[in-house]
Amino acid sequence: MKRREFFEKSACSVAALVLAKFGLSASGLSDEEMSREEYVKKLLMDKMGMSEEEAKKEIEKMKEKLPKVKEMCICKDCPTYVGEETEVGFCHPLIGKSKVITKENGCNCPTCPVYKKMELKNGYYCTRKSEMEQEMAKKEK
Ligand code: SF4
Ligand code: SF4
Repeated sequence: MKRREFFEKSACSVAALVLAKFGLSASGLSDEEMSREEYVKKLLMDKMGMSEEEAKKEIEKMKEKLPKVKEMCICKDCPTYVGEETEVGFCHPLIGKSKVITKENGCNCPTCPVYKKMELKNGYYCTRKSEMEQEMAKKEK
């Protein structure tokens, strides 16, 4: 995939904008009780009114971008990152917050190329969940 194509507005960013129109309510099972992919699919269906087929296609687009996000992620150089963690790319909907990182000691996300190119707005994804979820939470208030 060409770099420019990758940085074109991602499906997840678009999803965040559309999801922003909806209130986020309990989605049945908790995040911990279902796989991340199932959880995101349910959000797309429940909060964006997507059919299961549409949600699956959206998730496939997210999956395509995930390797590039992980490759470019600079979390491992961040003061908040801990040695016990192995995951990166917490801003991505299919990763979400860390199960290990709990203490915030500064966030390098705003200096990350992914952050800039994808025009992300939040941070501390490892402790506060993905960009999509943080945007949804803002609209709930
Ligand atoms: S914005 Fe943050 S979480 Fe996302 S890829 Fe960059 S450093 Fe990692
Ligand atoms: S999401 Fe932000 S705060 Fe968390 S490890 Fe990555 S750069 Fe640091």
